[in-house]
Amino acid sequence: MSTSPGSSAEHTPQRGRGVRWWWVVLVVLVLAAVAVGTVEHRAWVRAVAEHEAEVARVTEEAAASQARAEDAYTSSLDDLDRTTEEARSVLAASEDQVPDPDVRDTLATALDDAEELRDTEVTYQEVTRTVDEVTRPNPFHPETLPAVQVEAVDGSDPAPADLDAAATDVDEASAAVVEARRQWAYDELQAAAVEGRDALSDLDGQVGAGTLRPLDEAVTEAGAALDAGPDAVDPDEALSLRDTLLETSEALWSDRLADIRTGRLAAARDDGVDCRVDRCVALTFDDGPVADTRRLLRILERKDAPATFFLLGESVAARPGIARAVADGGHLVANHSWSHPQLTTLDDAEVRDELRRTQDAVTDATGSTPFLLRPPYGDVDGRVRTLATRTGLDVVLWSLDSDDWRTRDAQQIRRDVRDRVKDGSNVLLHDIHPTTVDAVPKIIDDLRDEDYVLVTVDLLVGTGS
Ligand SMILES: [Zn+2]
Repeated sequence: MSTSPGSSAEHTPQRGRGVRWWWVVLVVLVLAAVAVGTVEHRAWVRAVAEHEAEVARVTEEAAASQARAEDAYTSSLDDLDRTTEEARSVLAASEDQVPDPDVRDTLATALDDAEELRDTEVTYQEVTRTVDEVTRPNPFHPETLPAVQVEAVDGSDPAPADLDAAATDVDEASAAVVEARRQWAYDELQAAAVEGRDALSDLDGQVGAGTLRPLDEAVTEAGAALDAGPDAVDPDEALSLRDTLLETSEALWSDRLADIRTGRLAAARDDGVDCRVDRCVALTFDDGPVADTRRLLRILERKDAPATFFLLGESVAARPGIARAVADGGHLVANHSWSHPQLTTLDDAEVRDELRRTQDAVTDATGSTPFLLRPPYGDVDGRVRTLATRTGLDVVLWSLDSDDWRTRDAQQIRRDVRDRVKDGSNVLLHDIHPTTVDAVPKIIDDLRDEDYVLVTVDLLVGTGS
């Protein structure tokens, strides 16, 4: 029963220290748990805020994406619209003004492609933007923020880049047409200037200097523009100068040809021939001169009958002596082209070449410059007539085709003329056929028996007008 007071006194303080130590541990654990919980909670709050912000951002961006895609499409579409409209007018304004057809065809194709794209109904590509779900990794407070999906727009079909590419194609093709037209207009002016200078030199001495002044000025103005070079001359300006030149030349020649006609009619009346009162017939011979033309000239001389010869330039160049004999015989020498083509099938430069070379050849051979043109086959249109006028030529066809080129029979040719001739007949014959030359003496006799007066074709009433 007796206990040692010492031992009791020693044990009690030892037990008390041990209990306090566990409390400390407990408190520390609780505090740690609280701290960890607080940190975890704050992290979750932050995650929730970020998720909400991301959802807001994606939603806002999705809302703007439609407008952005529409803006991009509309902007490119407007550009393309403007480009095609300008190019359409370039294409329309360049018709017949670009020699190489490929240049305009390329633009036409680019325009068709561009306009097809422009008229294609636009669709916008829809995409789904996703904000991922967020899970709270806390076993005591499990929470999940669900994934959010937002519908957005990502681009269009046609894409703006496709519209832009089409616009670039049209732009480049259009620039090529503009450049080709510029060069063409320059070349046109150059050709007109050459023609104007030819007219100046042809008309010099035939009409007064004052009358020639407008053409002289037009030639000078064209020369100054040409000296500046193709890149410096506005094509519309070049074409305007060209038109002024050609119209001036045409007007001068029209006046000159009228003067020639009037003068010859007056001279004929002085000689007692007036087809307003006489029964006139003109015999005309096409396609020479040939060797047999000399025989025809002897017949006409013996019969004292004037005629008109529509000469081929290349034949005149080959037999200038015969051409001179025609003119020396008092006959009218006229132009039947250089090589007998269908003039309406040739371009302007080729027609001019056919006429001008013949004018030069006949003038060189005979000393007389033709003022009448009979187009081969009677093939003529307004364009050829204008080109003829600007070369100093009135167009004359015929009213009675003897068909000599077909029948090749002197008796038949004589009958054909005799049976169909009337006052004012302009008779088509060909001295390249011997049967025609054979028929001429009787034709002349028949006409004179009927009191017809034989004249050169320009004296017939209405010829050349
Ligand atoms: Zn002919």
